[in-house]
Amino acid sequence: MSDLVVKGLAKSFGDVRALHEISFTLGQGEFLTLLGPSGCGKTTTLRLIAGFERPDAGRITLDGRSIVNDPPEDRQIGFVFQTYALFPHMNVAKNIAYGARLNRSISTKRRVGELLDLVDLKGFERRKPAELSSGQRQRIALARALAPQPRLLLLDEPLSALDAKLRESLRAQIRHIQQELALSTLYVTHDQEEALSLADRIAVMHSGTIEQIATPQQVYEHPQTEFVASFVGRANRFSGTVMATKDGLISVKVGEFLFSLIREKGLSDDLRALQITPGNHISLFVKEEHLQLTEMRENAISAEVVLVEYRGETSIVYLKTQIGPLRARVSTKQATTLSTGSEVKVSFSPSAGLLFPAS
Ligand code: ATP
Repeated sequence: MSDLVVKGLAKSFGDVRALHEISFTLGQGEFLTLLGPSGCGKTTTLRLIAGFERPDAGRITLDGRSIVNDPPEDRQIGFVFQTYALFPHMNVAKNIAYGARLNRSISTKRRVGELLDLVDLKGFERRKPAELSSGQRQRIALARALAPQPRLLLLDEPLSALDAKLRESLRAQIRHIQQELALSTLYVTHDQEEALSLADRIAVMHSGTIEQIATPQQVYEHPQTEFVASFVGRANRFSGTVMATKDGLISVKVGEFLFSLIREKGLSDDLRALQITPGNHISLFVKEEHLQLTEMRENAISAEVVLVEYRGETSIVYLKTQIGPLRARVSTKQATTLSTGSEVKVSFSPSAGLLFPAS
């Protein structure tokens, strides 16, 4: 239960700048996810906080005190790795006891029992890691990280080696345990669904920087940068030119089409708005679920159905249009009425478009 403050943290490996002075805070008991593509600096951030690497610049404080010069074992930080990192020659109880011994004020035997209860693996004490399923191994790794009662828990893609169903159940279990212990937690993932479902807040990373920190809903619905709009959710992207802006409405030309958009709330205050002025080039994003295969009054164009992909309750419809290929997510009920090669109208509401200055 601690406040973590990271300020101006930078790290290079030779010529590679892994982190460019990133800053963020993690409140007491908060669950923050670092989300981003491979190589954006997520693991480096965790390793610097844990003390496995030394930063080139910047500050890391926990409970108001700098921990940069503390060795990893003195930081009281738990770490869960993608590959479990259990000791193969030790049984489950000994693996957890190893963690508990890092805190001398704890009775090891009692703590092992408590943690086996917490991760729901009572009765597995004598098994070796090789005699456990991958999900059970990761629960033991979590128990070992929690055993010394850390002030902060760091998890580096802990579910990526598991199959989809197990991932979902273990992620709910991790969130439940984190809330029960009110433990400040920093969780690294490249999986947006995982980040959206788990976190109190998400920090979206790109090329060693943080592009946006906000709640999952804010990140999904109001991305602040073009990168966040393209990385979180599935969106169609168009290049166009601003034709006019008036009374909260923006008119944008994409190819031969004129689209009409409503100015996003808050947009007028920020830098982005200053660049969305007549004559300027923009990128327009429309999420796949916001494209409708009906002819609305505004923003309707003709399209040819190229492919329909069944996804259960919804289906993905691939379309060919004069402004390029599009992806729409519609109900499977509607998708079954569409046949490959048929002509449809595709449209979107003026409030569904997200605008960014062209990059
Ligand atoms: P992934 O999701 O693939 O694990 P990541 O976002 O965690 O990626 P990092 O592992 O933090 O990314 O790496 C950031 C950058 O730093 C990458 O370009 C990587 O190649 C580089 N890097 C990381 N560790 C080292 C190292 N020990 N030596 C050299 N380069 C490194």
